[in-house]
Amino acid sequence: MRLSQMLFVTLREDPAEAEIPSHKLLLRAGYIRRISSGLYAYLPLLLRVLDKISAIVREEMDATGAQECLLPQLQPAALWQESGRWDMYTKAEGIMFTLGDRRQQELALGPTHEEVITAIARDMIRSYRQLPLHLYQLQTKFRDEIRPRFGLLRGREFIMKDGYSFHTDTDSLKQTYDDMYVAYSNMLRRCGVAFRAVDADSGAIGGSGSTEFMVLAEAGEDEVLYTADGKYAANVEKAVSLAPEAVPSPFKTYEKRDTPNTPTIASLAKFLDCSPTQIVKNVLYQVTYDREPEGEQSVLVLVSIRGDQDVNEVKLQNALTNLAADYGAATVLALEVPDAENQAKWAAKPLPLGYIAPNLADDYISPEKAKAAGIAPKFLRLVDETAAPLENFVTGSNESGYHIVGGNWGAEFTLPSHRMDLRKAIAGDRAVHDPNQTIQTARGIEIGHIFQLGHKYSTAMGATYTAENGTEVPLEMGCYGVGVSRLAQAAVEQSYDKNGIIWPVAIAPYHAIVVVPNIGDADQMAAAEKLHDELNAAGVETLLDDRKERAGVKFKDAELIGIPFRIVTGRSLKNGKVEVVKRAGGDAEEIALEAVVDTLKDWVEAAVR
Ligand code: ATP
Ligand code: MG
Repeated sequence: MRLSQMLFVTLREDPAEAEIPSHKLLLRAGYIRRISSGLYAYLPLLLRVLDKISAIVREEMDATGAQECLLPQLQPAALWQESGRWDMYTKAEGIMFTLGDRRQQELALGPTHEEVITAIARDMIRSYRQLPLHLYQLQTKFRDEIRPRFGLLRGREFIMKDGYSFHTDTDSLKQTYDDMYVAYSNMLRRCGVAFRAVDADSGAIGGSGSTEFMVLAEAGEDEVLYTADGKYAANVEKAVSLAPEAVPSPFKTYEKRDTPNTPTIASLAKFLDCSPTQIVKNVLYQVTYDREPEGEQSVLVLVSIRGDQDVNEVKLQNALTNLAADYGAATVLALEVPDAENQAKWAAKPLPLGYIAPNLADDYISPEKAKAAGIAPKFLRLVDETAAPLENFVTGSNESGYHIVGGNWGAEFTLPSHRMDLRKAIAGDRAVHDPNQTIQTARGIEIGHIFQLGHKYSTAMGATYTAENGTEVPLEMGCYGVGVSRLAQAAVEQSYDKNGIIWPVAIAPYHAIVVVPNIGDADQMAAAEKLHDELNAAGVETLLDDRKERAGVKFKDAELIGIPFRIVTGRSLKNGKVEVVKRAGGDAEEIALEAVVDTLKDWVEAAVR
């Protein structure tokens, strides 16, 4: 391909809209153009990268016996109502684009395809003899992200490979899940990116076990906690660890103390000259549940946790989802810390903010106001594992300016029956599997996520099969997603220098670029064209920079777009040689014209093995 014939526009300056290196570089090098928030045109060079990633994904998927299909992007609302996810995706997360057709039927643009595939399985899978089965597709997904940003990393339209497997039992599901773990690891290794597989939260998709594949990069939106022995790695949303030991409390008797201006843990610990590990902190949340058909129900939640610890809101949301049935609901629509405006909707009297005790009385909730506002009349009380074992602790007194010291569960305070792990694990904690291991932190970009779904969707949508013993049983399911367009940019985020992108050879849009310093020199042009043609014929995908530009501009552009091997038909041509420069590392050597094709072929083959 000749650059003179391509839509080839590079920018010298960093575009103002881009915050992180990979986004800047893809824009500057002419791989993408922004059309609107979270919407990008994939220009010809990027499309080649996407095609290469897709080819690797297909090879690894096909090798496991999965079959490719293509499902509709327009999905009827009725399917999402059957699975019970319509409200969550349109209201709670609000991530699904919806539209109506000419017959006033509601439709959505697919953010994911569990519903569609389960409907197909319900119709087509009759017998255990058809199982296991695994279908996947590569397709554009649509999500109305709250904060589309970082270019292709968080778009509103992006390319995903999503696969769904069906099984008779959990052993078979586990087998495919393990196969996917290997396939995903292979895909990322072959794409030339450094990654880590981590335990993950299953979020809105649901189900039990899940693993995320993180491409390690400072700009990543996710935090990964891990141990140096390689035995533990988890998304911070899901991570568990051992909190530091609590310091035994010096307050031997129960007492109410005057503690003016101590609404924070730090100010209180300083005032009482005690350790934050001796304090029970009580944090107020408000959860909104979705109830059918009565409508929304809010509940005020009081979480008691050790003073030096923070609540992990993902763990809290999962705990509240597990408790939803107690309120006649199935899903959590929202979880927030109620602000003053919100408190006014239900509080019978001003709350002792900063001085709340675990036994904050239910009469702080006005029954009349709460009823009108759709709020439960009693607090839901939860206690974190770090706060439950404390003795003689410090906590609020429910009166501004005063705290309790020497408090005890089972004496002055009732230990909430809902006791669970709600704390945020952090770097520096000790690991659960080996307390001698210290938890470390890294940033990552989530590229893939594999789930064991179980029978959540098949039960909700009535997707059953006839088992060997003749009974009708819901299908066991797994689902597996990888962000193809996100991966293209993540690879850049991991591999660039001040001059531009450094593509891994396996996913570079072209392997080589022949640069002609002076197109007016007939010998240079002839040699370059011959090399270009021969390299392409030999399977070394090669560009020819035959533009009427200064040599310096061409060299800069070749570096910016990140082509792995640059061949220059310059001065050394007189000796029958060309200069070949490796983009990664910058090594340059002169190679005889007749050896170029074989050498490059070897290099490319070695790099993509
Ligand atoms: P995130 O937490 O980053 O929003 P997710 O948990 O919503 O991701 P999944 O629903 O598991 O993601 O989707 C599978 C894969 O699709 C992700 O691992 C990611 O690579 C990709 N992906 C998800 N959302 C986007 C997006 N807005 N833009 C680009 N890729 C995305
Ligand atoms: Mg998401």
